[in-house]
Amino acid sequence: MTHAVGTRDMVPGDLIPLATLKAAYEREFLGTLWTHGDSGHLTPYVCEHSHGDGLKLLQIFTINQRPNYHLVRVDSGWKSDEISDQIDNILSAIEEECGRAGAYLDQPCDRCGDTACKCGEDYSADEAFPALDDRDGCSWNVISFAEMLHTIAKRNAWPN
Ligand SMILES: [Zn+2]
Repeated sequence: MTHAVGTRDMVPGDLIPLATLKAAYEREFLGTLWTHGDSGHLTPYVCEHSHGDGLKLLQIFTINQRPNYHLVRVDSGWKSDEISDQIDNILSAIEEECGRAGAYLDQPCDRCGDTACKCGEDYSADEAFPALDDRDGCSWNVISFAEMLHTIAKRNAWPN
């Protein structure tokens, strides 16, 4: 006889594979920060790692890479306070999965003191994406389950 390691009720999120989320959200869009002059084509990134039951979809915009964003699945039980408490861990997990933006140096850069130097002229936070540049912080919001379903349907992202 086989014993289950653990059980829980099935929830709607179980029906949405990572590939579906990627098909729905990793779409190029014309991002504009302030004016049309700073517009550029950006593609969001859906992270493979998840936290807890992974049924809540978190949209994370770093100051340096907005309006592009990472999407991370977090625990459906997390309220705003818990997400705030966990945000550093979530950012670390994004960095682990996507890398840290900036040039990799053996010694910390003389100017910025970082081994992932971002002060060089050729550095672009946009080009580095989805490698993370969270030096100046981030903001986040939760995408509701209804909105997620709507986006998946609208973009015809369900697997055939
Ligand atoms: Zn530097």
